[in-house]
Amino acid sequence: ASVWSTVPQGPPDAILGITEAFKKDSNSEKINLGVGAYRDDKGKPYVLPSVKQAEQKVMQQNLDKEYAGITGVPDFTKAAALLAYGPNSAPLKEGRVAITQSISGTGALRIGGAFLQRFYPGAKAIYIPTPSWANHKAVFLDSGLEVKQYRYYDKSTIGLDFDGMVADIKAMPKGSIILLHACAHNPTGVDPTEEQWKKISDAVKEGEHYPFFDMAYQGFASGDTDKDAFALRYFVEQGHTPCLAQSFAKNMGLYGERVGAFSIVTATKEEKVKVDSQVKILVRPLYSNPPVHGARIASTILNDAELNKQWLGEVKDMAERIIKMRALLKENLEKLGSKRAWNHITDQIGMFAYTGLTAEQMTKLAEEHSVYATKDGRISVAGITSGNVGRLAEAIYKITG
Ligand code: PLP
Repeated sequence: ASVWSTVPQGPPDAILGITEAFKKDSNSEKINLGVGAYRDDKGKPYVLPSVKQAEQKVMQQNLDKEYAGITGVPDFTKAAALLAYGPNSAPLKEGRVAITQSISGTGALRIGGAFLQRFYPGAKAIYIPTPSWANHKAVFLDSGLEVKQYRYYDKSTIGLDFDGMVADIKAMPKGSIILLHACAHNPTGVDPTEEQWKKISDAVKEGEHYPFFDMAYQGFASGDTDKDAFALRYFVEQGHTPCLAQSFAKNMGLYGERVGAFSIVTATKEEKVKVDSQVKILVRPLYSNPPVHGARIASTILNDAELNKQWLGEVKDMAERIIKMRALLKENLEKLGSKRAWNHITDQIGMFAYTGLTAEQMTKLAEEHSVYATKDGRISVAGITSGNVGRLAEAIYKITG
């Protein structure tokens, strides 16, 4: 037998499978709501003008292609931390946030998983919400952590199971690691309110748990990067010392450039220095050092006052287009006479809407109406346009009655 004859066939990636089916469909009005990437109102991928300008600036500098340090481009990570934690952050001012550039948000989560596996003094298990981004479980399992779950989504309300969530946090063994989506929860689009976040912070504190924030959509949820950082900043103000995975894939549209950061708030400067040293030891055998181009683009945007302002406007435009498409979809469904309540579509936030449609209904949507999305009923609102929202609403209306 050949060397690899015993390798079993793995299942295809759920999202990539949708893209395949979409590509095969010959219907000229087919709609792809599977992928988690922003599209403009013509349904086209969008390169932010601020990104194009930043890229020009980077090119004009005629920089070399030498290696970055293990933790990446310092101007970038410094600005990334400021964007996340805010200018009034005590740990930032006191120099006790360790940060490293990462291979986008996924890489940040992976470094975090590996760091916790190696150094977290408590149980090496992480609690993620039910449901969560499909990759969370795989990332943390591969980091050597045990993955457990807490209640999050309430099917009956298509909203947050706040009581269940808090009860589960309270029931966790003391000192548990808990993963929190900072904003624009994927896949549900359901976020706690600010008042609820405060209670969640209390419960996490009471249990002496360790919060790990995944912030893949800062600015993308509300259109305001400060507002979207509320949970993280509130936790820090309350004395938590969380760690954080940041991604610039969505808010800068830098998907394929893989720009992200992983940071840890520590208690003292001395601790920060030690944590820094261990993050380096961890990253070195993983990929040695991160790519520079995307980080230079992001750094230019974050550090140039004018470009920064422009970028914030562009993030806001993207968020607002999505919010508008939510409203249009709901409006169209109501106009068709749908007897269902669709307010969850506009209550939810971020790139995705959790429609509450069943797997069978999603299959029908694809087979009978050429509308493609994941079987859990999640649709990427970024794939909705003023041109296809009418047809989408009709399709959903027809399968739900
Ligand atoms: N975390 C969440 C919740 C996400 O939805 C995503 C992307 O879809 C990521 C992290 C990481 O994405 P990336 O690695 O492209 O930054």
